[in-house]
Formats: sequence, C-alpha cells, structure tokens
Amino acid sequence: MKVLIIGGVAGGATTAARLRRRDENATIILFERGEHISYANCGLPYYIGEIISERDNLFVATPELFRKRFKIDVRLKNKVVAVDAANKEVHVKNLDTGTEYTESYDKLVMSPGAEPVKPPIPGVNLPEIFTLRNVRDTDRIKTFVDEKDPKRAVIVGAGFIGLEMAENLHRRDVFVTIVEMAEQVMTPLDYEMAAGVHQHLKTKHVEFYLSDAVKAFTSADEGVRVTLNSGKELDADMVILSIGVRPESKLARDAGLDIGETGGIKVDSHLRTSNPDIFAVGDAIEFVNPIIDRPMLAYLAGPANKQGRICANNLVDGPKHEYTGTLGTAIAKVFDITVAATGVSEKTLKKEKIPHKVSITHAFSHAGYYPDAKPMTLKIQFDPENGKLYGAQIVGYIGVDKRIDLIAATIKRGGTVHDLTEIEHAYAPPFSSAKDPVNIAGFAAENVIQGMVDIVHWQQVSERDPEKDVVLDVRTQAEIELGMIDDAVHIPLDELRQRLDELPRDERIIVYCAAGLRGYLAARILMQHGFKQVVNLTGGYKTFEHATMKQSNEDIFEKMHLGQDDIVYSVDPARLQSAGQLVKVDASGLQCPGPIKRLGDRMKELKPGDTIEIKATDPGFRNDVKSWAGMTGNHLLELSDKKGTLIARVQKGSTSEQGFQAVRANKNGLSLVVFSDDFDKALAAFVLANGALSAGKAVNLFFTFWGLNIIKKQKGPRVRKDLMGRMFGAMMPKGSKDLSLSKMNMAGMGNRMMRDRMKAQNVDSLEDMIQSAIEGGANLIACQMSMDVMGVKAEELVDGVEIGGVASFMDHASRSDVNMFI
Ligand code: FAD
Repeated sequence: MKVLIIGGVAGGATTAARLRRRDENATIILFERGEHISYANCGLPYYIGEIISERDNLFVATPELFRKRFKIDVRLKNKVVAVDAANKEVHVKNLDTGTEYTESYDKLVMSPGAEPVKPPIPGVNLPEIFTLRNVRDTDRIKTFVDEKDPKRAVIVGAGFIGLEMAENLHRRDVFVTIVEMAEQVMTPLDYEMAAGVHQHLKTKHVEFYLSDAVKAFTSADEGVRVTLNSGKELDADMVILSIGVRPESKLARDAGLDIGETGGIKVDSHLRTSNPDIFAVGDAIEFVNPIIDRPMLAYLAGPANKQGRICANNLVDGPKHEYTGTLGTAIAKVFDITVAATGVSEKTLKKEKIPHKVSITHAFSHAGYYPDAKPMTLKIQFDPENGKLYGAQIVGYIGVDKRIDLIAATIKRGGTVHDLTEIEHAYAPPFSSAKDPVNIAGFAAENVIQGMVDIVHWQQVSERDPEKDVVLDVRTQAEIELGMIDDAVHIPLDELRQRLDELPRDERIIVYCAAGLRGYLAARILMQHGFKQVVNLTGGYKTFEHATMKQSNEDIFEKMHLGQDDIVYSVDPARLQSAGQLVKVDASGLQCPGPIKRLGDRMKELKPGDTIEIKATDPGFRNDVKSWAGMTGNHLLELSDKKGTLIARVQKGSTSEQGFQAVRANKNGLSLVVFSDDFDKALAAFVLANGALSAGKAVNLFFTFWGLNIIKKQKGPRVRKDLMGRMFGAMMPKGSKDLSLSKMNMAGMGNRMMRDRMKAQNVDSLEDMIQSAIEGGANLIACQMSMDVMGVKAEELVDGVEIGGVASFMDHASRSDVNMFI
C-alpha cells in the first residue's frame, strides 16, 4: 500500500507514525511545505514569552527520526499543489528548486490544518503586523521582540491564541492592547464567564477594547497606527493578528471533494472524505457535533492526534474504526487564571433553540482551611428534564484542568448532572474537598431539576420588573456594605425566619447571596413557609457583579508617557522635548546611595527645565530615582534598562522646593523598616500594614538585613551565589514559614503553637497577611544594599517586592505620618 500524507504536524505526523506501527511494508510519503514537522504549535507563544527557553524543545520529532525510526519518506518544503482524485495522483512543487512532480497513491491523507484569517483591512501587510501559526512565524515574532525591543503591541482578536500572546508579550515587557470585535474575549465562553477573564486582565494592566474592530493600519513614524471603527487610534510597535483561523480546504475543494457548510472538508465517521480513497483529519475537517448533531470545526491538537490514530487504523483494517467527534474541550492559561470550556455553550444552545438550564457555582480548588485554596467558577449547561449535560465552562486559578476533564469525560459518555453528583474523586485537603467542585455543580443543578429551587440568571435580574419582583439580599451587613443590587431588600439569612412578614407573598422573590448557597437556603426557607414564587440568583452577587461591571479597559496608556522600561509615566510628552540643557552623568558601578547622591549634587547646579541623563548599574536605582524625583519635585522623564544599565532622564522642576514642601504637608502613610526576621515581629509588621491599608493609608515596608528573610519565596529558584552568599543562604531561614519566635521558640515548637493558635482564633497566617498586604497595595521594598551584603538575589523574593535603596525609603517615609522600626 502506498500512502501519501499532506501536512506533517499534529494530524499528519500522527497518522504516519501509527501507520508504520500497523504496517511495516506500507510506502509512506509525508509532504510538508514548511521546514519542520511534528512541532509543538501549542508551545509557540510560550517560546516567544521565553517560558520555553530552548527553541529545540519545540520539536517533538525530527525528519531524521521519522526517516530512520519509522522509515517514512519525509519531504520538507514540498507543497502539494493539486490532487488528481480521478487518477489517484498528487502534483507537488519542490519549494527549494521550483520543480514540480507527480506522485501516485493508493490512499491519500489530508491534514493541511487551518490558516490564520487575514481580512482585507487597509495596511494589513505592513511588516510590523504578524500572524502566528508555525515555527517560521514564531521566529519572525521572537526576532522582532528580541531585536526591536517593542514597547507597545496591539493584539487584534482575543481568542485563545490572542490572549496567550498578550500574556507572553506582557512577560517580555511589552504594553499590550487587545482589540476584540465581540463584546467579550474567548468566544467559546458565555458572557458572564468571560467577564471573569475581563476583570482579571484589568488587574494585569492590559488595555482592551471590546465591541470594536480595526478599520485600518497605517505606517507611522515608529511602528503602526491602528485605527478602530470607533475612530480610536492606537500606536503600536507591532501588531499580532489573531482574529481566528479557517480550514485549509482549498486543495480539497479543487480536487472535487465535498466541503461542508462550515468550510471544512466533509468526512464520514471513518474519516473518509467524499472520495473513499482520500481521508482527512485535523483542523481542516468538518464533523458532526456529538451533542447537538450539527456540523462543527475544532481547531484543537487533541482531536487531530486522535483522528490520526483512527485514520491509520482504518487505512490498514478498512473502515472499521469510528471517530465519535469532539466536544471541543479547550483550556488556556490567561496570566494567573485558567480558563476552560467543553461541550456546547449556553449561547449556542440558545441559537440552536435547544431547551436548557444553566447553573453557576463558585467553589474552592481544595479545602478552604488548607493554605492557598483558590476560587473557581463553574458553569454547566444541561437538559431541564433529564439533566443531560450539554457543556461546562470553568474559570479559576488552580485545579481547573482536572475539573473540566472530569466533566468532559462525563459528557462524552452521555452523562447527566446526576452523574456529576456521583463523580468519585481523590480527596485530601491539599487537592480537593470532600465535595469536589464538580459534585457541587451537580448538586446545584440536580436541585433545580428536582424542583428544590428555581434559578434566574444575572441578566434576568438586570431586566426584572420592579412592579412584580422583589430582590432579597440575604448576605451579612458587612458584605452588603461593599456593594449590592439596586433596590434589593436586605434580610440576613439568619434573621429570615423571624422577618418573613416583611416580604410580600404575591410577588416573585429573587433571592441572592454572595455565591448562591445561602440564597438556596433562603429560598428553601421561603418556599417551605408558603412563598410560591421564589427563585435564586445562580452564581450569586459575585457573578452578577462581574457581569454588570464595566468590561473593557480603555485608554489606560493614554496621556501617559511610556518609558523604555516597563513603566508608564504620567508625563506630558511635550516636556520630553524641553529646551533646557542636557547634562550627562555616569554613576555606573556606584552602590546605593551613590547614584542618587551624584544626581542630587549635579541637580543643584542646574536651572529649572534642564535635564540630567544619568547612567547607573545599581538595580535599586530603578525605584530610587522615581522616588527621589517625586520627593524633590523634579520630573522623571524616562527610564530605560539596557541589559542591566539603567538610564534615567530627570528634569529639574521649576517648583522643586515647593514640591518637596507639599509632599511633606500632605502626609498620610505608614512606613516600616523591617529589620528583624522574628516570626512574631514579622506578624506585627503585617498586622500593622494591613490595618493601615484598610484605614486608607499608603503603606511601605522596607526590608533590610534579617528582615529580607520574611519576604523570601518558600521555594526559591536555584540561583548562582558566591561562597559567602551560599553560607548565609544555608544559615538563614528560607522564607516566612521558617521563621522563629523571638521568645519561647523551643526549637520551632513555639512557632507551630503560635500558628495553631492563630488558626484556632481565625487569625490569617503570616503568608496570607503578606499576600493581602501586597494585594492591598502595600509597597514592599527590599534593600538592595542588604541584599548584596547578605547574598540574597531578586529571584528569591516573593513576587511583588520592589528593590530599592535609601532614597526609596526616604521618599516613602517623608510622605508618612507614622514611621516605625521593627
Ligand atoms: P497543523 O498542525 O497546522 O499542520 C498542518 C500542516 O500542513 C502545516 O505544517 C502546513 O504547512 C502543512 N500543509 C498545509 N497544506 C499543505 C500542502 N498543500 N502541502 C504540504 N504541506 C501542507 N490546540 C490545542 O488543543 N491546545 C493548544 O494549546 C493550542 N495552542 C495553539 C497555539 C498556536 C499558536 C497554534 C497555531 C495552534 C494551537 N493549537 C492548540 C491548535 C493545534 O495546533 C492544531 O489544532 C493542530 O496542530 C492541528 O493539526 P493539523 O494536523 O490539522 O494541522
């Protein structure tokens, strides 16, 4: 048997390798128009972001391996230009030599994949506009980022690849703006689930425009100007077009094969096209959705690989092995969160007019009492009569992957919400809860089907009729102070039985709590006390709030000057072209406070409007110079980092003295110098810090000498250190969990007792306090000089800690009305 395969990546390479395992004698020729086969498309964004550091790691298998181990004739840079189905031949162009030749086949397999959509927008072919599909595209993008050091990128299209690129460019210190035509990112998700992603992106300082599209790209002095339909103009050094892909079905269409309504190559359940000697697999095929029986495309590596195996089996055994379709189960990391979906979304169910219900639940990744439990939101779609599962979506931090896989496996077997309630999972506190989030999703949905409670969505609450509906908030007083639904009546759950008379019996009561559980309990109380029309808001206030908040995040970089580092400066760009004299100062090699001192000394000699360009190699200078400029009333115009050399431009302010006075007059902050690494003192520092934050104060903690041990990562990375650094490192605590009590430590027993006691008293752990201080906006500054002396490296410190020197501290201290030394 002679088998030709078009396309040498996921579907094609898998078919070839499996075929060889099944048939040692088959002649197998693999045509790939690119320069590589069997590479990890899915890893490409992470190589650009330098999470995957070795380019070679992208190659799962090499042509040599395919030739030697599998006896497969791999023909790189050979493009199949036509298929002559009648004569069972393909016409191939050798892209190196330009020559064409013909190859005959007994069976042909097409796995040509999907191509990025490039709409005919004016300027779409400008050199700074990229698409990402293969290694070649990846090399182009990575080389551009490495060499051109872009500062601003516009990503057009917020699908999975667009968001992965947003994260990876952000990692490379590029300011990212996303433009998305739809009203939400990631279209496989329903709106309120995408809303969770929007809110997360905001915290990452990603700018994004929703419900807006690109009208034109024009070449600008530096990079590209992107004009949106709304008239908004965005300047960028580079653009990634990730507005979607479409099946590469032209070759098949030209060969007379049937093309489906989605544009994919039509195949039967044995993956045969309309010509029985031609098979097709991967992104290019259209297949029937196993849940709703409608044609679908799936641009996913898992299905392509599985189809390759089935296809090879059918090539050898004849049409015996059935492909049962895919649910389109997909997952993506979006900065700190994981977003996953499987099956059919609610919006598709609505479009297809399929009766359904949904349930949204919030749960924790593992037992709440075990450290680091992280929230996740699960949405499931199901048949209102029999509970058959249609689909699910999950947004969370950890453990999203295993939950989506459990649900996908249940759906794949035609399972119901009742099956979810019975899913047996491995449980110990670090991994899950006795009731796993998937069980809870099942319970909530089962309650709906069994008539224990009816639910409404956030949209229905937004569109409620105030004449007929009463909204009842059953959360606590403390919770409602942070926000509640307009016009809601507030009766805390624990007072509900005593206050039933306050509620009308002839109106519908929409009950809600934070996440849905207390709302359900309240609904049960009301229903059992004769209230006839009671519904619970699914997903509670959390989902409602996310979905009704502002979704987009526009103009966050506007009117700001972008430094050549990753910092945005609120500086009038006109000032950058100021007419004063420019004085260059070299402070390279000086340690803190040397560079600042030199800057201050030279500044005294200048007139307002003059600018100093100072070079320094002390890493703490990055923050020091910002602080010093703010403190002295001078203006930091620009700060760049060229491979470890910091170059700052600071302009003398006309009112620098008054500026300093004003700062002093307007003090409202807490500055702590944390010198000790005693557990109890660290605790005291963070109790004060969190307290001050909640009192609205600016909080700054300056960690120096032993205090640095508090803010070390528990499991720091391996870092290169000199002998003294290694010795200090070996002797010192490895992070907050290793600290000792200042008194009664008793070889660590005291610390453990203290932690137990804190837990019993519901006092947050030290680690939680550190985290909440960072999240609450406290500045944690590690003293550069102490770090050098103690051999502590930046990589060893917890995320969110800045490195600074005396000037940073002095700036903060001068703005604070409370200064303490711990
Ligand atoms: P491809 O892997 O695209 O291979 C098709 C090959 O055919 C190409 O190399 C092409 O050059 C070649 N070809 C086409 N026409 C011809 C011709 N006429 N002659 C010769 N050769 C030809 N999926 C996931 O499930 N998870 C992910 O995280 C994920 N991340 C991704 C990230 C990126 C950046 C990209 C681009 C894709 C990602 N995917 C992901 C999708 C996944 O890579 C695809 O679903 C999968 O590769 C499809 O396999 P395929 O064989 O159909 O097509």
